[in-house]
Amino acid sequence: MIQLDPPRERECQRCGRRDVWDDEVRNWRIQDDSRAGDPFCIHEWDINGAYQPIRG
Ligand SMILES: [Zn+2]
Repeated sequence: MIQLDPPRERECQRCGRRDVWDDEVRNWRIQDDSRAGDPFCIHEWDINGAYQPIRG
């Protein structure tokens, strides 16, 4: 059985935004509001691009 180990944090390579994974809402949230980054940035996260959190 494959045990998934999703990343717990990620950082945008473009604008420097940092997110952490929140188990309660099962989604990313901004780790530090002062580093929220560019809201128009098409964030390029430093995690495996193949990983897609399940939405919906
Ligand atoms: Zn970004």
